[in-house]
Order: sequence, then structure tokens, then C-alpha cells
Amino acid sequence: PTKRTPKPKWLRVKLPTGKKYTELRSLVDKYDLHTICTSGSCPNMGECWGEGTATFMILGNICTRSCGFCGVKTGRPETIDWDEPEKVARSIKLMKIKHAVITSVDRDDLKDMGSIIWAETVKSIRRMNPETTLETLIPDFQGVERNIDRIVEVNPEIVSHNMETVKRLTREVRIQAKYERSLQVLKYLKDSGINRTKSGIMLGLGEKEDEVIQTLEDLRSVNLDVVTIGQYLQPSKQHLPVKEFITPDQFKKYETIGLELGFRHVESGALVRSSYKAQKHLT
Ligand code: SF4
Ligand code: SF4
Repeated sequence: PTKRTPKPKWLRVKLPTGKKYTELRSLVDKYDLHTICTSGSCPNMGECWGEGTATFMILGNICTRSCGFCGVKTGRPETIDWDEPEKVARSIKLMKIKHAVITSVDRDDLKDMGSIIWAETVKSIRRMNPETTLETLIPDFQGVERNIDRIVEVNPEIVSHNMETVKRLTREVRIQAKYERSLQVLKYLKDSGINRTKSGIMLGLGEKEDEVIQTLEDLRSVNLDVVTIGQYLQPSKQHLPVKEFITPDQFKKYETIGLELGFRHVESGALVRSSYKAQKHLT
């Protein structure tokens, strides 16, 4: 067996600490609240939770898709839990979250692809937490406008959809998705009046610099506001291998290029995840 390349030093993180973190951690354990932050053991928990940001996943834990980079299980998904919108809203209240990121597995098995639960979740959160701002990190809904419209109608402060990688690698990285379709979704959101649109890519999957720049240009061409660029890490041996660890200087370079292209915010760094510093993207 091949040995895994050891992580470079800029990827080693300190364990999260801080009063707010400890408080939230005990709430999450006590009430069995479901956050991506804990289930994916995100390295930014101390920072995000300290600022009152957390990410929640809806529509179950099993995805109909099988992206090569993603740690979520693939299979036949659970039945819809119509109480889920209320439960998420209550978790946000308990945790006193100021800025919530909501995401979901892809539900290609459902006629509405989960968009109804999506909209109900936003409405429940608004009702119970009128002060909390929201980012919805949505699937492509196979590009079906009727489904995307349900998100547009509830008007989250930020709507994001991740490209994940450059055009050439899209088939390998997220087999059921299409680069152009994802771009089209982002364009449709902006054209429909969403104030802040956002997307993210991971690096280290074998993409070349000019391909990354092309992706940034494509995202600007649909008037995207915020882009996040982070290092891909392999969730298990069954997932795509890390081809390269991108250096801090290279991340910095992409940040500069992104800002020159006119994005409002560019988060670029090894530990950047799509919801990292998400609250800042409201401004
Ligand atoms: Fe949670 Fe996202 Fe922050 Fe990680 S980056 S702690 S998943 S909000
Ligand atoms: Fe993971 Fe999303 Fe792909 Fe499903 S669609 S496998 S949750 S990245």
C-alpha cells in the first residue's frame, strides 16, 4: 500500500477552545443537535462558534449522489421528516446562532428535490429567530427553476452553490453534476434578485493554475459576489487522493487575482471551508 503524504505544517490545527465554544459543545451533546461542524470535525469550530456561526445539514444524512471527495454516505435516503424545519429552527435558538449556514444532501429521489423542506426550514428559522441571518448552501436542484424559485422566494441573505472544482475535473469529482449547470444556477439566483451569491472550490485535486483562474473568471461572469478557495483533504481511503498540497503563497495569489476580478470577498487558504467566516460575507 502507498503511504499517505504527511500533511504540511500549515494544515495542522489547534484544538478548538474558548468559552463560547465550550458552551455550544455541551448544548450540542446534550440535545443531540446536528451540525456539520461536529460531524465533519471541522478545524474551524473554535473560530466559527466563537463568532456565533454554525452549519446545519437538512434532508437526512444519506445522499443520492456520490461525489468522489465527499464524506457523506450514498444510498437510498431517509423518508422526509416534516418536523425538521422546526427542529433546525429550535437548535439555532438554543445555540443562539447569529448567522446560520444551512446545507443539505442532494435529493434527486424527490419530485421537488427537497426544495419544499428547504423553503420551510428558512421560514421556520425566520419565525423563531428573527435576528439570525442565513446562508443557504443549496444543491443544483438539477437546474429546475421551479425548485430554485422556492429558495428565491424566501430570500436568504446569502445563497451559495459550490462548483467544488475546475471544469475539466468536474466529472471525476462530482459525477452527477455539471459545471455549466452549476454556473447557470448561480446566474439564475443573481438574475432573480438574490442579494449575495457565493461559491466555493477545493484545490489539490490535480487542477492547474490557469484552470483555477478560468473558474474564477467564469464565476465572475455570472456576477458572483463571494468565492471561497480551500485545500481538499481526503475523508477516507475510498475517496479521491490528494494530488497536491497548495502552498500558502499560492492561496494568496488566488486571493489577489480574485479581488482583481472584482469579487466582493475572496477567502483563500488551506483551512478555508465554504462556510468559513460566513458572517463576514453579509457585508
Ligand atoms: Fe462549521 Fe463551516 Fe465553521 Fe467548519 S467552517 S466550523 S463547518 S461553520
Ligand atoms: Fe456530498 Fe453534496 Fe455530493 Fe451528496 S451532492 S455526495 S452531499 S457533495
